[in-house]
Amino acid sequence: MSELVQTLVVTDPSGKWSAHSLELVSDAAALARRWNGIAGAWALVAPAALKSDVSELARHGCSRVALLRNDRFAKWSSEAIVAALEANRSPGCRLILLPGTSRGEEVAAMLAEKLETLWIPDALTFAVNRMGSLEITSVNTGGKLSRLFRMADERPVVATMRPGVAEAKADKPAALETREVDVDLSRVAKLTDVEQFFPADPRTLDITFANKIVSGGRGTGGVEGMKLVAKLAETLGASVGASRMVVDLGWVPYERQVGQTGKTVHPDLYVACGISGASHHLAGMRDSSHIVAINPDPKAPIHEVAHLSLNGDLQQLIPEIVSVLEKRLSGEAGSCQPSAISLKPS
Ligand SMILES: Cc1cc2nc3c(=O)[nH]c(=O)nc-3n(C[C@H](O)[C@H](O)[C@H](O)COP(=O)(O)OP(=O)(O)OC[C@H]3O[C@@H](n4cnc5c(N)ncnc54)[C@H](O)[C@@H]3O)c2cc1C
Repeated sequence: MSELVQTLVVTDPSGKWSAHSLELVSDAAALARRWNGIAGAWALVAPAALKSDVSELARHGCSRVALLRNDRFAKWSSEAIVAALEANRSPGCRLILLPGTSRGEEVAAMLAEKLETLWIPDALTFAVNRMGSLEITSVNTGGKLSRLFRMADERPVVATMRPGVAEAKADKPAALETREVDVDLSRVAKLTDVEQFFPADPRTLDITFANKIVSGGRGTGGVEGMKLVAKLAETLGASVGASRMVVDLGWVPYERQVGQTGKTVHPDLYVACGISGASHHLAGMRDSSHIVAINPDPKAPIHEVAHLSLNGDLQQLIPEIVSVLEKRLSGEAGSCQPSAISLKPS
């Protein structure tokens, strides 16, 4: 079967496949199936051996993976990556799907130029019409305009998708063919090296990319309550999120809204403070790895998705949690009030 879609997968700092890579692989596999083909992936391996389990890619629908080895990938040299992807492109590949991050977009633009094809940023959906032509919708950065691209010929097209747009879907692993390639980059000019990565300031970071989020809802009671949420976020090194109610009330700008009409997030830690957990809110955060709910109403739906429920008043609990965390951070011992905490059986 022909490898119609190829994606670039990368690992996060812990060595696991990034959540965004698994989203792209899932979408690529779903499209390839509808097109009677298969999806493949390129993984950049350098300089240490890859710690991630390639079977995780198979569980997300990937059928072939090329492990591309070269030390230059460690410093994200875009020209090196572009050369490696071009050299290891499947002949039948019709869509190259890359991460919609600044680094992914840099590679996308350079690769599209090299292949003399189009780069479609901010892709939203992929479909194959009755004539077998690929159709891609994309949105502009303000989200106000969508465009439909219909590919006229079989030339491969490059598209990027932002994190959180596609859904990572794991299933029984597909049969996976793996090949290791020592990429020869001796003829590729060395133009750029990324020497260092600086972590983004969580206060200004787009919440879609945040690893930890503390969100406030109407139960915060107003701007003063949201300041408590911001204090907890600061102590945890997290970004601030909000329910739509809080945004509609003007306590927090729209860019912080989580949910169906806001942003979809899946951080490692999501703390919901004074949020009831309406389905529209849950739609944007229920896939977070660890969910903590602070809400005195035991019937609030947020407790159904929470891994840890604190059934109490946030005005009292947040200062206590902040105090415990600050003591821990400064090396002093601290303990939580166990009465307010109910742990879900796993
Ligand atoms: C088409 C559509 C799209 C929508 N999109 C979104 C969306 O993207 N995102 C979104 O969030 N909503 C969205 N909504 C709105 C959604 O349905 C809810 O109305 C909203 O999420 C409720 O916000 P909330 O949880 O902050 O407020 P509430 O539902 O009023 O809940 C407040 C919670 O705070 C708790 N509380 C009160 N006092 C305290 C205290 N002192 N300490 C701790 N907890 C306390 C209460 O027990 C309560 O559970 C959408 C609605 C529609 C119709």
